[in-house]
Amino acid sequence: MTEGDYAQVKTGQVVENADEGEKVQDEWGESGGEYVMERWKQMLARSCRGAAGLEAVTRVFPMCLSPHVLELIRGGSEAIRRQFMPDVAELEESGDLQPDPLAEERLSPVPNIVHKYPDHCLFLVSDACAAYCRFCTRKRKFGAGRGIDPTKLEPGFAYIERHAEIRDVLVSGGDPLLLEDGRLEEILRRLRKIRHLEIIRLGTRVPFSLPERVTRKLARMLGRYHPLYVNVHVNHPDELDAKTVGALGRLADAGIPLGSQTVLLKGVNDSVEVMRTLMTKLLAARMRPYYLFQSDLVFGNEHFRTPLRQGLEIMRGLRCWISGLGVPAFIIDLPNGGGKVQLVPENLVRREGRRWTFLNYRGQEYVYPDVGEEDED
Ligand code: SF4
Repeated sequence: MTEGDYAQVKTGQVVENADEGEKVQDEWGESGGEYVMERWKQMLARSCRGAAGLEAVTRVFPMCLSPHVLELIRGGSEAIRRQFMPDVAELEESGDLQPDPLAEERLSPVPNIVHKYPDHCLFLVSDACAAYCRFCTRKRKFGAGRGIDPTKLEPGFAYIERHAEIRDVLVSGGDPLLLEDGRLEEILRRLRKIRHLEIIRLGTRVPFSLPERVTRKLARMLGRYHPLYVNVHVNHPDELDAKTVGALGRLADAGIPLGSQTVLLKGVNDSVEVMRTLMTKLLAARMRPYYLFQSDLVFGNEHFRTPLRQGLEIMRGLRCWISGLGVPAFIIDLPNGGGKVQLVPENLVRREGRRWTFLNYRGQEYVYPDVGEEDED
C-alpha cells in the first residue's frame, strides 16, 4: 500500500428521503470540506493520539465518514468511534497480516469477479463506501471511490454468462447501494437475464452508514429482482438506531430477506453481553443473524483481533441463551483463499459405546443414547 489520497470527506451529500421524495442535505453544505476536516481533527485528536497521528494514518489509509456515522460518534458511541476513527495502531507491522488476506486478487479470473467456490461468485460493482470501516478486508482499495466505469463490468457479466455452474452471485464492492438506482437496476437486469443464475445477493452497510439512501423507491426496485437477498454488515447494537431500523423495515416490506454479517472486533463487540443484545436487536429489526466473522488478517488490524477461544465462548453464550433464530454461524475466512470454515464450541464430553455425553448450555452433563449403526452388534 502506497501513500494514497488524503482523508476523504463526504460533504453536501444529497439523498432522497424515504417517503416524501424530498431532498435532505447534510449539515455542512456543499463547501464545508476544509471546515469539516478542521472539526474532525479536533474531535479525532483524542482517538488518534494527536492530529499528527491522524494525518500519518490517513495518508496510508484514508478516512471517510458519513453524516449518520459521525452523528452517532458525536452522540457518544465508543463502539462506532472505534470502528471508524483512524488509530495509529493501524500502522503497526505484524507478520501475520497481509494486504489481501483472502487472496482475492489471485482468485479473480477477470476484473471485478472473485470466484472461489464451486457454485457462487463475488461481483464487485462499486468502489465506494459511505464510511470506511478501519478493519475492512478490502482496505487495500481505500481511496478509490471514483466509480467503476460501467464498461469495466462487461468482463464480469460475460464471465458469469460463460460459467453455467454459477447459480448465485454476491453483488458487493465497496457498497452496491451507493450506485444510483438506475445504474444498480441495470446491473440487476443484466444478471437476471442470465438463465442459470438463480439467486442474487447484495452485500451492503448502507442501511446503517447512510440509512436515508434506502428509500421505498429503491426497495421497490430491488423487490422486482427476486429471489434477491440483502446481507447487511452490522457490528454493534448502537448501529441499530431508529433510522437504520427504518431502512431495514423498508427493505423487509419489499419482501427482501435480510441477513446480517458481523465482524468480531476487540473493544467493539467482544463480549457475550454485547452479542446477545446485538443478535436480539437484529431479529427485532426483521433481520436474521447469518455470519459472525473472526476478523480477517488484513494489515492494520492487529488491534482489532480477538483470540479464537473468545469467539467460541461468545458462541457458547448465545446458543439456547437466546432464540436459535438469533444465533449466527461463527466463521473464519481462511487466509490465502482457503475459504470459510465454521467454528462450533465443543459440547461432546465423552463417548462410551452408544452413550454420548454432552455439555448443555449451562455446562451440565447429559447423556444421549445413540441408535446402533448397521455394522455394530
Ligand atoms: S462498508 Fe464494507 S467494503 Fe466498505 S469499508 Fe466497511 S467493510 Fe469495507
